[in-house]
Amino acid sequence: MQGLMQDVPLTLQMLLERADALYPSKTIATKREDGVHRQTYAQTVDRVARLAAALQAAGVKPGDRVATFGWNSSRHLELYLAVPCMGAVLHTLNIRLHPTQIAYIANHAEDQTVFVDASVAALWQQVRGLNTVRRVVVMDDLTPEGRPGMSAESAIPGADDYEAFLETGGTAFRWPKLDENQAAAMCYTSGTTGHPKGVVYAHRSSLLHSMGVLFADTLALSERDTALVIVPQFHANAWGMPYAAVLTGADLVLPSRFTDPASIASVVASEQVTMSAAVPTIWFGVLQAIRGGEIDPAALASLERIVVGGSAVPEALMRGYDELGIRILHAWGMTETSPLGTVARVKTTVPEEQALRIRLTQGLPTPTLRVRIVTEDGSVAPWDGKTMGELQISGPWIADAYYEPEAPDQRGGHDRFADDDGTRWLKTGDVAVIDHEGYVQLVDRTKDLVKSGGEWISTLELENLLAAHAGVVEAAVIAVPHPKWDERPLACVVSRDPDLTSGQLCAYLAEHLAKWQVPDDVVFIDEVPKTSVGKFDKKALRERYREYRLPDT
Ligand code: ADP
Repeated sequence: MQGLMQDVPLTLQMLLERADALYPSKTIATKREDGVHRQTYAQTVDRVARLAAALQAAGVKPGDRVATFGWNSSRHLELYLAVPCMGAVLHTLNIRLHPTQIAYIANHAEDQTVFVDASVAALWQQVRGLNTVRRVVVMDDLTPEGRPGMSAESAIPGADDYEAFLETGGTAFRWPKLDENQAAAMCYTSGTTGHPKGVVYAHRSSLLHSMGVLFADTLALSERDTALVIVPQFHANAWGMPYAAVLTGADLVLPSRFTDPASIASVVASEQVTMSAAVPTIWFGVLQAIRGGEIDPAALASLERIVVGGSAVPEALMRGYDELGIRILHAWGMTETSPLGTVARVKTTVPEEQALRIRLTQGLPTPTLRVRIVTEDGSVAPWDGKTMGELQISGPWIADAYYEPEAPDQRGGHDRFADDDGTRWLKTGDVAVIDHEGYVQLVDRTKDLVKSGGEWISTLELENLLAAHAGVVEAAVIAVPHPKWDERPLACVVSRDPDLTSGQLCAYLAEHLAKWQVPDDVVFIDEVPKTSVGKFDKKALRERYREYRLPDT
């Protein structure tokens, strides 16, 4: 017997409809150099319709990729809404990557139109070899409010200005009927081997994920909240916070490029922010500034809770915020998981004395998701809190495949997924245990990458570059712990030139990489330790340099 309920397509258009009908006076605030720009949801919905109309008039068709290259702002939010809701695909480019990586990703995704913040226009202009981009639109985030804007042409020759572009669209845009399974957005994730991989979110998965962010037992984002979204909009949809906020009518605060501790404190105070989300590095910086007397903790009085993820939350950070009366909610996720996967809420069945330990785990799977641990011999581990293996995850907002336009079936990354008894599992590359209550705790990862301040650095890329240097015999790069950035890369090099210095190698790497991707130090060793099959034994190297203090720490 079939259920007799309506089969309503779950699309992001629902967000627009609700914001317009139910929350017209709620606000979106964007930090500017000279203060805060505010607009209501009603104004936003109007601008979103204009933007969609302008995109359509400019020839953007359903399925076309429209990319963004910028900070968190109300304009970026307008793109988040207009592009998918008109049937095109939003592609958020990571402004922190090296120009060659950005070019690869934009070409692979076949981006045609790109919206660039004026403050990163110079970075964009370093991106060469773009094959598909036809139109660039500059979003002026530099001119103070109320002053005549800069010319887009002066930022990027041949570009349009965002506000002028908006004027070309009327407000009477008719939103098309969408299939809930069509692509809404895409985001690339650093490949552990080879190139970055494209994750393609569907309308349905994004809508369900937004609901997942609202549950009382997950992030509990609600209409009563004013949410400061620090995690970048180019990072897995800013952890789904912007869409969830619009769905539920929360006030949104977007920090643009002002994410230093003093700016965060000032915007929390001026907007009376109640919840926020960012990686540990950001919150560590705020805590240090409070302790150093640069920030008055009273500025954070309205802040009730902060979502922290992307890297593990250290106990000292959790305790530091507990003392301030601000609750850290530890969450785990990946670009492939939309990204909310687990949240560390303490169940009532957990004894009180265990609460802190539980809050430091990565948490419980969000409702509708399933997790399991698969050991090295391929068996599914019991939830005993001891048996380690790869964390696998399944559910309606978990990637099914990577975007692969060259492959006949357009689906890639087959080795990153497993099919088992009718269930599709994403292999996360994280090594974890799960306890009898269902709490996931990460203990290691198989991904050979370094995560620094929430951004990935490819060890493989560093090793390839080092190996190409005339003075280098072989080189292995490992992550070493760092108090501020969580991890930093350390290069272990076997040199054939006794005069070669760490500084010379770092300067050489800086020619090919973004500055923050360059290792802070190079150690010279006699030989890279190898495993029985002759691979670099990174485990042994990590063990050797566990206590290693980088020059600036
Ligand atoms: P994001 O950084 O936006 O969460 P990525 O796809 O770039 O997404 O990175 C996902 C990876 O980051 C995870 O597979 C895991 O290795 C690491 N990670 C994310 N959240 C946590 C966490 N709470 N604790 C430890 N590692 C985490």
